Amino acid sequence: MLKVASIKNGVVIDHITPGNGLKIFSKLNLKDIDEPVILLRNADSSKAGKKDVVKIENFYDLPLEYLGILDSNITINYIKDEKIIDKKSVSLPLKIKGIVKCKNPRCISFEQKDVSPEFTLNNREDGYICSYCEETTSLKRIKL
Ligand SMILES: [Zn+2]
Repeated sequence: MLKVASIKNGVVIDHITPGNGLKIFSKLNLKDIDEPVILLRNADSSKAGKKDVVKIENFYDLPLEYLGILDSNITINYIKDEKIIDKKSVSLPLKIKGIVKCKNPRCISFEQKDVSPEFTLNNREDGYICSYCEETTSLKRIKL
């Protein structure tokens, strides 16, 4: 059994849905970080059978809202001196600002670059509603 807290200082992104580890790795541009980074795929999980895990040494500043859109199952352990000092779980953010673009060509946020796109969570099935044109973008279609 692999121990989760095997880094000294940093963050462990735990309980990633199997297959999403690589996505998180690339979306967070972890290849550009000069600190040690571990990507564990298909690790045993007591919760869900298998999981992916990402560990980043000497790093704490994670975009939680963004991670919530990427995979709302994950939990994050903040490690200091080999001890877990904080635990956070992410969820789908109620509002998304400036990350996702509206796909409606007639939308004011689509045309005008100074209008920052903004979405409100509808529900898991339907996805997010644009604050300007009320067009719904399904969660599956949200490409980050
Ligand atoms: Zn819109």
